[in-house]
Amino acid sequence: MARKKPEPAKKQPAAAKAAPASAGKTVAVVEQAKPAVKEAEPAVKAEKPAVKKAEPTAKAEKPAAEQAKTAEKKAEKPAVKKTEPAAKAEKAAAKKAEPAVKAEAPAAKKTEPAAKAEKPAAKKAKPAAKKTKPAAKKPAPAPVNEVPAPVEEPVHPVEEAPMEQPYVSPRRSVAFIGSECHPFVKTGGLGDVMYALPRELVKQNCDVRVILPRYACIPQQYQEKMVYRGEFYMDLGLTGRSYYVGIMEYVWDGVVYDFIDNQEFFSAGNPYISLVDDIPKYCYFSKAALAALNFLNWIPDVIHCHDWQAALVPVYLRTMFQGTPVGRAKTVLTIHNLRFQGIYNIPTLKYWTGLPNEVFEMGAMKQDYEDANMLKGGLAYADRITTVSGTYAWEIQTPEYGEHLEDHLRYHSYKLRGIVNGIDYGMWNPATDPALAVNYDITNVLDHKWQNKLALQEELGLVQDQGKFVIGLISRLTNQKGLDLVNAIVPELMDGNTQVIVLGTGDKQYEDTFRYYENAYRGMFSACIQYDESRAHRIYAGADALLVPSRFEPCGLTQLNAMHYGTLPIVRETGGLKDTVEPYNIFNGDGNGFTFDRYDAGLLLDAVNRAKTEYFVNRYHWDEVVQRDMAKDVSWQNSARQYKDLYLELTPW
Ligand code: ADP
Repeated sequence: MARKKPEPAKKQPAAAKAAPASAGKTVAVVEQAKPAVKEAEPAVKAEKPAVKKAEPTAKAEKPAAEQAKTAEKKAEKPAVKKTEPAAKAEKAAAKKAEPAVKAEAPAAKKTEPAAKAEKPAAKKAKPAAKKTKPAAKKPAPAPVNEVPAPVEEPVHPVEEAPMEQPYVSPRRSVAFIGSECHPFVKTGGLGDVMYALPRELVKQNCDVRVILPRYACIPQQYQEKMVYRGEFYMDLGLTGRSYYVGIMEYVWDGVVYDFIDNQEFFSAGNPYISLVDDIPKYCYFSKAALAALNFLNWIPDVIHCHDWQAALVPVYLRTMFQGTPVGRAKTVLTIHNLRFQGIYNIPTLKYWTGLPNEVFEMGAMKQDYEDANMLKGGLAYADRITTVSGTYAWEIQTPEYGEHLEDHLRYHSYKLRGIVNGIDYGMWNPATDPALAVNYDITNVLDHKWQNKLALQEELGLVQDQGKFVIGLISRLTNQKGLDLVNAIVPELMDGNTQVIVLGTGDKQYEDTFRYYENAYRGMFSACIQYDESRAHRIYAGADALLVPSRFEPCGLTQLNAMHYGTLPIVRETGGLKDTVEPYNIFNGDGNGFTFDRYDAGLLLDAVNRAKTEYFVNRYHWDEVVQRDMAKDVSWQNSARQYKDLYLELTPW
């Protein structure tokens, strides 16, 4: 259905006022971007060959120019190396010095003054070595007969390499495009990834720009820090209208955040409202993000888009933007959750995107004959597809987890891979976490964790007793998260020694059920139906175990947070939960947590009971696992390196 939107009514924010220079430009977006594009294009092209030329010329020069250079180098290097192979070459000069040095050794032992007396002798040797330098610097090497060594001695490659310099992987520029990013706006794991991965990539020699919608709900403290970068107008689909695109920028810890501003689309108090509103919003956002890159004349090597909200980016890029500067970029599309795909009827999507007909064929966006699927289109056009764990990458190619895209994903499986998420150690660190009652690390966790438990019990009005087994659950309250399994076993969990804390919002049925349990088990069950970051931190620190019984879980971050805080995860073996939590083995004590495989309430109860047994009966072993989990590397470093490798694979220049 074609949605009519009210005229933009010049909703440019304060930002627009700040830009008198460009305020007058009211040209249609793409058209405005295009000229810039065309001007820029040659420049880009000109650069490329330049880079490529540099190599061959460098090589070509070698014979001629390098003769001079190497002559110089050789002249210099041997001077440095002289001391080592000096032996061979400098036999004449250096050997004279060597015996002197050797002779000094015994002498040195004799008396100190003697040693001092030797110094001048040693110094004498140095000038001798230096003497060779000028000779070597002569354009042509000295005749072989004369001072042969310094010039003729081959350069030893081993010494050429600066051994202490660590390997620095080549620099790449990457534009992240997605719909949420902590701390500006976050509803789940996507927000965490959009925050942490760019920061880690900066450390791994990447230039990163994160492009986000400028939602009105972004906290004022960040809105105030944004700086106006420019504005332009852009046509959108078949609407026949020009849409304002403002760019507000915020640079933080080496990452540049560009917020696409248009109050017509982003003025709601929540990033996601309903598909009717969200489809046009993210059609606009995907196109505006690409147009903004052209406008800023910042052309990345790789565009990394996330989930269905940015899935049209590769589609736009390979169609309407192919001939523009940004068209040279490679694309990666990451699936954080396949359940959400952005499906709407074809006429509506044609209206809002204006994409050519071939995009609406079965191989790309078309689905079930009358619908178009934005994620499906993105998967078809992206150069690489990633998802957030290896197991999930495999699962989504099966009917059970494929959300009707399993065939499409199997078809594109050659470009699909799983890279498990990490957590940001700056944000998640029990040793420095300001939200906690008592900070702790792996060395004193057993002394301090219980203090956090007592503080948490007090905060939530639970019976204060460090002997109780406290189970946390921090989650969106949706069908995905296995909450029906939890509901089914709550009465059996509540044995008088166990407390349960739920933190989350979502479907009313789950919210109400947990509220009911809070009433039924006063002092032992706490239902925090809210989104509260710092309380989440305190639950990770104060609980003994964290429940993640998901029906499916692409990666899952809560189990990683929990392990890092010494809280043992109880998880279903699916997706990233399977990849990150090794089942505890009662025979040899290995493992990180307690797991069950089939989606079954009885199996969940069994896993919880196994955990309780370890906790109450084998506390020594439990404590070992606590420390092992805290020591486990769940940081972004390793995952970011895999993303960087992927970018390099796509851009092998
Ligand atoms: P998903 O992305 O499916 O929601 P993840 O496990 O990947 O689940 O990520 C959830 C993230 O959101 C975690 O960082 C978790 O701590 C946080 N979170 C979830 N619910 C809440 C809540 N109610 N309050 C605070 N943080 C929450």
